[in-house]
Amino acid sequence: MKITVVGTGYVGLVSGTCFAETGVIVTCVDIDNDKIEKLKKGIIPIYEPGLETMVRRNVEKERLFFTTSTKEGLEGAEVVFIAVGTPPDEDGSADLKHVIAVAREIGRSMSQYLVIATKSTVPVGTAKKVKAAIQEELDKRGVKISFDVASNPEFLKEGAAIEDFLKPDRIIIGTESDEAQKFMERLYKPFLLNGHPIIFMDIPSAELTKYAANSMLATRISFMNDIANLCEIIGADVNMVRRGIGSDTRIGNKFIYPGAGYGGSCFPKDVKALIKTANENGYGLEVLKAVERVNDKQKEVIFNKIYSHFGGNLKGKRFAIWGLSFKPNTDDTREASAFVVISKLLEAGATVKAYDPVALDEAKRKLGDSILYATDLYDAANDADGLVLMTEWQEFRVINYGVLSKILKSKVVFDGRNIYEPSEMVEEGFAYYSIGRKPAIP
Ligand code: NAD
Repeated sequence: MKITVVGTGYVGLVSGTCFAETGVIVTCVDIDNDKIEKLKKGIIPIYEPGLETMVRRNVEKERLFFTTSTKEGLEGAEVVFIAVGTPPDEDGSADLKHVIAVAREIGRSMSQYLVIATKSTVPVGTAKKVKAAIQEELDKRGVKISFDVASNPEFLKEGAAIEDFLKPDRIIIGTESDEAQKFMERLYKPFLLNGHPIIFMDIPSAELTKYAANSMLATRISFMNDIANLCEIIGADVNMVRRGIGSDTRIGNKFIYPGAGYGGSCFPKDVKALIKTANENGYGLEVLKAVERVNDKQKEVIFNKIYSHFGGNLKGKRFAIWGLSFKPNTDDTREASAFVVISKLLEAGATVKAYDPVALDEAKRKLGDSILYATDLYDAANDADGLVLMTEWQEFRVINYGVLSKILKSKVVFDGRNIYEPSEMVEEGFAYYSIGRKPAIP
């Protein structure tokens, strides 16, 4: 079987590589020439654990190919996945220009029956637009080639993308054609040996499922952050509350960790886009509007703690930031809370030296020389007036208190991810601020 994946980013590259791993011949297409040239040489443009080895293996076995030409990529293909970005438009809706551009390119290039499956997260109604764009291009060419569209939203998580793709909880396929259904069943069968289901449904339901899933997860996070803030006011400990409610099997213990707000390339834009879809259809998704408001405020919570600890005067102070990616195990810094804190610190006249195990290059692209970049976590903390943890990377979990005590100018830690124990911090002589717990002051 031969397939094509158009858009070779986090989703496209992981999906294409994992399909190749099952023996399918995959061509990944991207308009970014630099990216494709690097991939041909085995250089992976993103940080994703395990991906590099897998890409190299499949390139060597001649199951995985890269090109900038959609036409070349489509030669002999039976299924093509669209996996390009769908960033938010100015009004919050998903910008479909890349998706439609790919659909047109497919219409201009295809020469035999194809199933066109959208993996990008796209609003309800997109499959119809994709179908119309392809048909328009075929009509312009004056050729009659049959094709089917399908919606196949992707649920992988950055940082655990390969594991998620190889062992998915479920596969969602929206389609209105038996033939497309058969192709998708064949393609996904190797990933479902663990007994998890492939769920077929109509296309609008499949398109909405992805938004509803991300919005539900974002809702859990914002709900817990709201509860955490209330905990601080009334003197409760959110960790206790979390454990208390998480042990209820109806609630479960996932996605109820409070923190400095959610970020990334998906939750913020997908919540926005779903609110917009509802608005366009005359419905106000009130819960989601609150989820977004709570998250915007939550991204400032750590800065507010720093500001009040230093009595509102941050001029000339320097802060160490640990963690810049929006979550651990990825170099993705899109919408990361660290950047909100950094920007507010700079605005208040402070300076910043930041460290992240893999996201420093991404941060440099965004922030240039407005901040300093550290070679390791203690280099960042050296001579700083305070330590601010924004991403819960594994290497931050066990700190060397002795070293930190010597190098920090003032022994204060602001923890945006609740990874340290307040009692231990106090014992070691640190003032410690976290989320939804009382400040621990020695
Ligand atoms: P990305 O920005 O990492 O990659 C998109 C790629 O598409 C880029 O390499 C870009 O050069 C390429 N591209 C743009 N226009 C193109 C065109 N006309 N032809 C060929 N290539 C083109 O994006 P991503 O994070 O992989 O996300 C892709 C989609 O998948 C989005 O809709 C996103 O919401 C969704 N999604 C992302 C994740 C995630 O964790 N990143 C998870 C599930 C779903």
